[in-house]
Amino acid sequence: MAENQEIYDVTIIGGGPVGLFTAFYSGMRELKTKVIEFLPRLGGKVSFFFPEKIIRDIGGIPGIAGQQLIEQLKEQAATFEPEMVLNQRVEGFERMDDGIIVLTASNGEKHYTRTVILATGMGTLEVNELDSKDASKYAGKNLHYKAEKLGDFKDRHVVISGGGDSAVDWANELEPIAASVTIIHRRNEFGCLESSMTKMKQSSVRVLRPYTLEQIHGNEERIQSVTARHSETGRTELIELDELMINHGFKIDLGPMLDWGLDIEEGRIKADRHMRTNLPGVFVAGDAASYESKLRLIAGGLTEGPTAVNTAKAYLDPEAENMAMYSTHHKKLIHK
Ligand SMILES: Cc1cc2nc3c(=O)[nH]c(=O)nc-3n(C[C@H](O)[C@H](O)[C@H](O)COP(=O)(O)OP(=O)(O)OC[C@H]3O[C@@H](n4cnc5c(N)ncnc54)[C@H](O)[C@@H]3O)c2cc1C
Repeated sequence: MAENQEIYDVTIIGGGPVGLFTAFYSGMRELKTKVIEFLPRLGGKVSFFFPEKIIRDIGGIPGIAGQQLIEQLKEQAATFEPEMVLNQRVEGFERMDDGIIVLTASNGEKHYTRTVILATGMGTLEVNELDSKDASKYAGKNLHYKAEKLGDFKDRHVVISGGGDSAVDWANELEPIAASVTIIHRRNEFGCLESSMTKMKQSSVRVLRPYTLEQIHGNEERIQSVTARHSETGRTELIELDELMINHGFKIDLGPMLDWGLDIEEGRIKADRHMRTNLPGVFVAGDAASYESKLRLIAGGLTEGPTAVNTAKAYLDPEAENMAMYSTHHKKLIHK
């Protein structure tokens, strides 16, 4: 092992909502904790897909915007000062003779740990970018893959390309504030929730289907219009715009983790009721986990994280009490 290399008790892979809460709880159980996240920021699917949407199905919180929940989870996670590593995808897994696990990240950095908690969701997330040579020129200007701030779309003419949940959700979300919203979809049928479709039909959103986004036109700074082509008749339409949103799906995969020897079913990692995987010292929580009656909600993961931590604690110290730790009784928190 490299000299001076710090060994952590628990390394949590994934800094989504579940990874963040798991880091807090790991600190409560006095475990030296590290979180490694692939993206440049914490928040997982919540920050990625729905930072401004209101989440209403977490006990005790009648409604909270996705990013606000993440900010609160980050603050909570920071309580016991875990090490946070961003921009690294964990790819390699190796167990040394003394039982220490070595995780290797995409940049070659090695992380040494006694246990691992996989809070990886379905894997690393990357949007499918617009298939155009000019896509990179306009990204961060008026070419968007999501609305970071709804206010940026106020009184703007918005064109959305896509036909899944995200495209229709954004159309419904932006319609009340934008000057106009046009959605272009290459098929006749949308692949979204019926209720979202009903809402869109009742709104002023202009729907072009089956149309394909064929070309973007712009100057050095901004996209000014797009050409859409009718998939059957070939008729084209030039649509002027202020903002272009692309929702052409995303890639999500566990990548090299699939070769670690984990038991995987339908892209998720099999867990027992203690959140153990089949690999000793490796636990799982949140969307990554698969077991009978798994609740695929944030609330479900917020329970699995502490369970995984308690099991990791017992794995590290068989004498340790395998109990739920009350935050109201915790010596560091009691006088806050
Ligand atoms: C549009 C949409 C709306 C939703 N609405 C709700 C809702 O209203 N209520 C609700 O409860 N749930 C909702 N969900 C589900 C909710 O987002 C998930 O249940 C939740 O995000 C799971 O959290 P997680 O931390 O387990 O995984 P994720 O949020 O997926 O986070 C996993 C993190 O792990 C990282 N990661 C993965 N592999 C690696 C690796 N090898 N190395 C480093 N990092 C890695 C990823 O980059 C990611 O940031 C919604 C989901 C979507 C898509």
